[in-house]
Formats: sequence, structure tokens, C-alpha cells
Amino acid sequence: MQVAVIGGGVVGVCSAYFLAAAGHQVVVLERYGNVAEEASFANAGLVSPGLAGPIAAPGAPRRLIGWLSRPQAPVFIRPDVRPALWRWLRRWVDECQLDRFRVNKERMQRLAGYSQSVLAALREHHALDYQQTRGILQLIRSPQELQLAGPLLDMLAQCGHPHRQVDPDAARLIEPALSDSTPLAAAIHFPNDESGNCALFARQLRSICQDLGVEFHFNSLVDNIAPAANAVGFNIEGRSFSADAVVIAAGVHSAALLRGIGPALPLYPVNGFSATANIKNFDCAPLAAVFDDSYQLAITRMGNRVRVAGTFELGKEDLRLSPPALRTLVKCGNDWFADAANYNSASFWCGACAMLPEGVPLLGATAARNVFVNIAHGNHGWAMAPGSGKIIADLVSGRAPDIDLDGLTLARYG
Ligand SMILES: Cc1cc2nc3c(=O)[nH]c(=O)nc-3n(C[C@H](O)[C@H](O)[C@H](O)COP(=O)(O)OP(=O)(O)OC[C@H]3O[C@@H](n4cnc5c(N)ncnc54)[C@H](O)[C@@H]3O)c2cc1C
Repeated sequence: MQVAVIGGGVVGVCSAYFLAAAGHQVVVLERYGNVAEEASFANAGLVSPGLAGPIAAPGAPRRLIGWLSRPQAPVFIRPDVRPALWRWLRRWVDECQLDRFRVNKERMQRLAGYSQSVLAALREHHALDYQQTRGILQLIRSPQELQLAGPLLDMLAQCGHPHRQVDPDAARLIEPALSDSTPLAAAIHFPNDESGNCALFARQLRSICQDLGVEFHFNSLVDNIAPAANAVGFNIEGRSFSADAVVIAAGVHSAALLRGIGPALPLYPVNGFSATANIKNFDCAPLAAVFDDSYQLAITRMGNRVRVAGTFELGKEDLRLSPPALRTLVKCGNDWFADAANYNSASFWCGACAMLPEGVPLLGATAARNVFVNIAHGNHGWAMAPGSGKIIADLVSGRAPDIDLDGLTLARYG
């Protein structure tokens, strides 16, 4: 089959790879000049089934209200918000109930766990090196936050995902450069979870795709999709094309492409930020990755650089850098690895995650014949991309995927 993948982010590139490997003739349509230019460009890099979960969690609405009055916080909401955001937040609050959190977390962890094994196979097969490291330490600053982590710890124990709660001394044995002047109540160590440079991986996979015959059409903005009886039509800047099947992997722009195909999805762009700095003192830098639970951000080693990434901003429709969010990144870099880098002179970046209130992605067929989606991976899209790409290729090829897709398809939206 001739398959067009719309979007050259990490999700689109992984989809293209597995579609080509399954024998399809694949074109990737990307509006920018290279792959991984949007959300996949400078993310935190965590490939963590342990941390893969919705931001809608028990206690989160109360925490959110507390954060709004703080100058340095993990979440900011712009005051000039539109009704779509309030509708999204209302649904998000419903998803924060314990029973909903359990359902959503299980779905995300199922996909991320599968995806990690697909990534490992890809890495081995193609001898990929994308600055990957192994082991993630989740840092919990206060006893109150340790209490809030209760449902997460229960779920991790239930599903048997390898993890260990450790005290501050043991945490500093795992990450010797971790500051001892910042309060730390406990940490959770995920020994098998990983991190790596998502954009570097996507660019490497792009070359492998090209060797497999995938064509990349850059600077090609798809305006709309028009499914028909025997083919799927689409327009690129007024010109008409068609393919046997189309996979939408267009990140935050996916909802617009689904207009007229349906269903209408509450897919909201949630902005996140990162600061990437050269390491000036290697003895003082992280060996792998840590995740600061209080500020919902990660500090990740990427070769000779360190990246601080996270901090969400809602209600903003552009990718301008937000000074309070950047101050939070710099603060947390200095809190945990002060002498590793000069965070004030880092390269700062803003990207938008396509997020549903429940946080769980959507994969598979739409109501329109041969139009598929691989979307809404929120802030865990890198962790889920290889697995999601393999699943989409299986579904397009009419094969049963390797994992149960219960709760991961559009059936969730009727
Ligand atoms: C600060 C931050 C930290 C993050 N940290 C992590 C992390 O640690 N681990 C993790 O797993 N995830 C993380 N994420 C989330 C992750 O980056 C995203 O989930 C992932 O990159 C989404 O990939 P994607 O391919 O779906 O979207 P994108 O990378 O946004 O790709 C979509 C592509 O589609 C193209 N496109 C859109 N519309 C059209 C159109 N009409 N025609 C042609 N092309 C189009 C865009 O140009 C873009 O290149 C983080 C995100 C942010 C912002």
C-alpha cells in the first residue's frame, strides 16, 4: 500500500519506519525542513514506563491551586484563557479521581512498557547511539509529597514495574553529584527506565527510513484530508494528492486535520520548556536522569550537556518563552546540580504537547476508511513513539498488534 504519514515528529518517523519495514511504500509529509522540529526537538528525554502517567492525578487540582500563587512553580496558567481551556480543565479535574487515575495510568504504562521493548530492539538492530542512559531517580522533596505519591507506588507494586523507594543517602549513591543542601524526603529509583536524546534518535531513524525507501517531503503543509471510496485525498498548499492510507501524526495540529472526519477531540496544546547547557564540571553533573516531583521536571544527562525540562503552561497559543517557567528551570538545575553547568546561559526552548484531559494517547482507525491516528501522546510521546509506530504499522497492515489496545483507540470517544 502507499501510505502517507502526516508529521515528521518522533511519532511520525517511528510510524514511517515500521510501515516501510512491513513492506509499504511510505511518504512522510512535514511542514518544516527536517524531522523532530516541534515537540520532539528538545524534550526531557525520559523513556520511562514507571513515570508514564497522566498529569491528572489524585491531589493534582489542590496542588495546582497552590502552585498558581507561587513565583516558581511546575504549572502556570495564563489569565487570558479561552473557553476551550476551561472545558479541558473541567474534564481534567474529573480524570483526577483515583479510579480514573488508575485506569489512565495502566493504559499509558502498558503502551510505554511495550514501547521500551520496541526501542531496545531497534537500538540493538541498528546499533543506535542517541546519548541514552539507564536508570531514573524520582526525587521527592517533602513527606507530604511522598504521601501524594502513594497511589503511584501502589500501582507500580501491583504491575510489578521494577522500582525501589530509597532514602536520601541511597539516592546520593545512585547520583553522587546530587546536592545535599536541597531538602529530599525520599526517592524512587527506576533502574530499568532510560533517557536519551529524542531529536537525535528521530534524525538517525530518518536516515534508516530513507535507506528503506521512505520519501520525506519537507516544507509540505497538509491543509486538509478528504477520504474517498478507494483512496484518501489530501491537499498540500492547494495541490491535491492521494494515498491508499493516511496516518495522522501531526502532534498539536492533529485535531484540525481530523475536522470533518471526527470525532471532535479535546486535544489541547500544553506548553513545556527546556534549558540545555554544556557541562562545565563533569564531576558535578548527573550520571543519568532525575525527575523532580515537586516541580514536575527532569534533569537529564545528554552526552556533554545537561538538560532541565518540564514546567507546563496552559492557555497560551504560541511558543514564546515564558520568563517564570525559565526561572523555575534554572532554580531546579541549581537546586540539584548547581556546579554542573551555567543554567542562565543555557539554550532555552518551548514546545507544545498535544494532551487530552485523561493523558492517554489515541491509536488506530478513524471512522473514515484508511485514515488512522497516532496522536495525543502528551508529555510521554518519546517514551511511547516506537511502540505506537509499530502498532500503527500492524493495524494498517491488517495484523493484530502485540499488545491489547483496550482504552488506547478512538473507541474511547465513541
Ligand atoms: C518540555 C517538554 C518535555 C518533554 N519531556 C518528555 C520526556 O521526557 N519523555 C517523553 O516521552 N516525552 C516528553 N515530552 C513529550 C514529547 O516531546 C512529545 O509527546 C512528542 O515529541 C510528540 O511527538 P509527535 O511526533 O507526536 O509530535 P511533534 O514532534 O510535535 O511532531 C508533529 C509534527 O507534525 C508536523 N505537522 C503538524 N501539522 C502538520 C501539517 N498539517 N502538515 C505537515 N506537517 C505537520 C509538525 O511540524 C511536527 O513536526 C516532552 C515535551 C515537552 C514540551
